Amino acid sequence: VRGLVKHFVSKGGLFSKGPIVRAVDGVDFEVMKGETLGVVGESGCGKSTTARLLMQINQPDRGEIVFDGELLGSRALDLKTYRRQVQMVFQDSYASLNPRLTVEETVAFGPQSHGQSRKEALGRAHDLLRRVGLEPRRFGGRYPHEVSGGQRQRVNIARALALEPRLLILDEAVSALDKSVEAQVLNLLADLKRDFGLTYIFISHDLNVVRFMSDRVMVMYLGQVAELGPADDILASPRHPYTAALLASQPSTDPQARISEAPLTGDPPNPINPPPGCRFHTRCRFAAPVCSTREPGLDPVAPSHLAACHMAVPGSGHPEAPSLPMA
Ligand code: SF4
Ligand code: MG
Repeated sequence: VRGLVKHFVSKGGLFSKGPIVRAVDGVDFEVMKGETLGVVGESGCGKSTTARLLMQINQPDRGEIVFDGELLGSRALDLKTYRRQVQMVFQDSYASLNPRLTVEETVAFGPQSHGQSRKEALGRAHDLLRRVGLEPRRFGGRYPHEVSGGQRQRVNIARALALEPRLLILDEAVSALDKSVEAQVLNLLADLKRDFGLTYIFISHDLNVVRFMSDRVMVMYLGQVAELGPADDILASPRHPYTAALLASQPSTDPQARISEAPLTGDPPNPINPPPGCRFHTRCRFAAPVCSTREPGLDPVAPSHLAACHMAVPGSGHPEAPSLPMA
């Protein structure tokens, strides 16, 4: 993904348009084949908008999506081919299902609309339902409201897999589930990824879940990437003050964890009018004068590890750059 930008016009008055919301404001990243890229950040940071742009539910204002070496929209990669290879599972398992289709019809719908016969498509649906832990004889004929939330999310996963995608975008896919059900669905997702050779973009506000799932992590703040790198590095020794504060704000499941960082306070500023310089400077306890005037680039701080912070880049040479105590 290169230079992705999406600005929305917010709701204004009766005769006027509202101000521009800079939902995604220059985002670059790669997802490696076979990995899980975790995406974290507070609500409004642009995680879901990025997902919707990747799914082509919304069109970006600017930027390029390159899939398997081919530019989306070029002759080598048309939208239809791309769409089949990239599927998404949303948080709200109920809203994303058609209440008038049974579980088996839901999963068969995609293959059928891509030309399989009803019988073929139902056969495929039954295989997939079995694979996600729903016995087709018992669940296939039920309607979405006749199964539990965890079972509905399994249906959504089976549906997403029905067209044999290669990349699955999971946007808060387990966030609405009880903890015990959540663990089962996470384990299922890990198994499916291995068995089908899938690649995941795993969006979540829950860093413990992201830690469990991800190979690499991308931290977003106000429509931009704050930090990107190996999950172990980022979650154990974050280099961006925002990541450190985000980690400190999470309830830890690790009794050994000692948090020295101050947790995040207050809400992120409005993406309608992001602060100049470093967007995080209004909440950053390390902010120096340079931070409110100059925007930091996303630069390497360690092998395969990028951070957008003036103070996190070794040898940046900036006279005001002290070394961060947590780095
Ligand atoms: Fe904080 Fe400055 Fe780094 Fe932004 S650039 S995160 S304000 S230290
Ligand atoms: Mg969201």
